[in-house]
Order: sequence, then C-alpha cells, then structure tokens
Amino acid sequence: MVNITTKLVKKLQSAKFLLVLDRFYKATMLKISTKVIEVQNFLEIERQNNKSIGFVPTMGALHKGHLSLIRRSRSENDCTIASVFVNPTQFNDPSDFDKYPRTIQKDTEMLREAGCSILFLPSESEIYPDSALKSINFSPGPIAEVLEGAHRPGHFAGVAAVVKRLLDIVQPHRAYFGLKDYQQFLVIKKLQQFYQIPTQIIGCETLREQDGLAMSSRNSLLSALDRPKAVFLHQMLQKAFNQIMGGNIDFQSIINSILLDFEENGNFKLDYFDICSANSLQKVVNPEKEDLIICVAAFLGKVRLIDNLIIKR
Ligand code: AMP
Repeated sequence: MVNITTKLVKKLQSAKFLLVLDRFYKATMLKISTKVIEVQNFLEIERQNNKSIGFVPTMGALHKGHLSLIRRSRSENDCTIASVFVNPTQFNDPSDFDKYPRTIQKDTEMLREAGCSILFLPSESEIYPDSALKSINFSPGPIAEVLEGAHRPGHFAGVAAVVKRLLDIVQPHRAYFGLKDYQQFLVIKKLQQFYQIPTQIIGCETLREQDGLAMSSRNSLLSALDRPKAVFLHQMLQKAFNQIMGGNIDFQSIINSILLDFEENGNFKLDYFDICSANSLQKVVNPEKEDLIICVAAFLGKVRLIDNLIIKR
C-alpha cells in the first residue's frame, strides 16, 4: 500500500505530469466574447470574488512579445484579460490598416496556451457604438508631437481614444503595455493621469528575436529577403547606445554618423533616428544625468518598423 502511495505521489510530482495537468487546466479556462456586456459580466464575477484583473490590449497577430505581457499580468493578477482589436482610427494610412496581419485563430490558441482567462474580440461597432467615441477631449501635449506623432498625424489621438474606451469597459486593476512603443506608453500614462483612471499602467521590456530585431506583428510582413536586413535597426541603436555608455555626449555627432550608416546601407527609408530625454521626449538638457531614449522608425520595403533603447542614468 505504502509503495503504491509513494509511486502515485512521485507520479503526481513528475514535471511531465504537471505540465499535462497545467495544459489541460489552461485549455478549459479561456472565455471568449465579442460583446462588451458579456465581458463585463465575466469580470463582474471576478470582482465579486475579490479577484484582481490584469488587462493586455493588443491588435492581434500575437508573438512572444505579447505573451510576455500576458505572463507578467498572470504573475501579478488573479485574472488576465486580453483584447484583440485592430483599431482603424489610429492608422493614418488606410492601406496600412488593410494589410495589418490578422491571425485570430492562432492568437486564440496562443492566449489559451498562455493561460489567459478572457479574450475580448470586439467588432468596430462594439467599440464605437457612437462615432462620438472615436475622439476624446484629451491632448497629450508636446510628448505626442515629436517622433511617431510628427510622422503619423492623428495616430495618438486614435490610440488615446481606443485605450480610454477599452479601460472604461474593462476597468482593470493593472494594464500592461510594451516599452517597444515607448511614446505610446507615455501618452497612455498621461491619459490615465488626466482622467484619473484607477488602473495602474505598467510598462514591459521589449522582447527581441535572436538577432536582436524587436518582435513585432509587422515582422511577418517582411519578405524573406528583407527579414535578415531588418536587424540593422537594432545594430544602429546599439551603436549609439555603446557610444553614449562610453561617455560620448555629443549626440548630434552620434546621430550624424548613424545617418551616414543608413545612407551607406541603402535598404531603409528613415523616418527618424533620435536621442531624446526619456521623460519628455524633447531635446536632452542634462546629457549625463537624464534618462535617455534612442529611437528609430524606418521603412524596410513597405513595412514600417520602430524600435528604441532606453538609457537609465
Ligand atoms: P500591438 O498588438 O502591436 O498593439 O501590441 C500590443 C502590446 O504589445 C503593446 O503594448 C505593445 O507595445 C506590446 N508589444 C509589442 N511588441 C512587443 C515586444 N516585442 N515586446 C514587448 N511588448 C511588445
């Protein structure tokens, strides 16, 4: 009898068995809904049971970067909800919206496997039942006027409106955003302060491919020929990073030499390469004391890629 019990305990503790159990548990867990009211009902039950809610808004075509946000949310909350909604109002170029990758079946399986509790899959009319909801009376100020803001008119107005709407619907304790979209993160933090939204806004590290390319849904749009070329963006960020860490504070000379590298490389149409204050995104005032961000946006073929590296002082 003792022998059988010991064997059973050993089996139950074996890593393989726990993995199978974990998979089975997760597979039964994911609730999916396209309706605001239904999602709110799911969440109400969680709240009544005093469960904390973590939220990961996405536009789908999920990759490991997105899943790292789900993991972080799961580690800090009882219930994790993800949304997949390709928000038309944040695309300044309609063809960019049309060709944005959509892989909802695969996304669902990835979220299920990652142990997400709820997947919200709204239609456009569910998010914007009234077109008045497409814009909000919030201006992020100078942080939204540079970099992405300067190159994608209307982009942050669209982002702010959809994030406000999603936070109003979900009312999470915590919401998770990637620092890969650093300017977006700052705009959302400002939005949260402006409306005094009782959700903690959490920034998460950028996940990268083995060669250093930042993971992005748009990477899947790169041709097989262009994909290996894309790593150049990260190499240029790293070059600037190394020079600054080596003590060079002549940022303009660093930028100029990198602009020459881009010209020589010839594969990209550069929107910007800049070194700014990480808090204000404006010109650096105190180069040796301020946190800095080195950021880049460029087209490789028809695909627009962005990336950044942060320097903490
Ligand atoms: P998206 O679907 O592109 O709107 O991204 C949804 C969220 O995932 C945003 O908060 C992004 O900043 C974040 N994200 C995208 N790529 C990465 C990455 N490589 N690492 C970490 N977070 C990411």
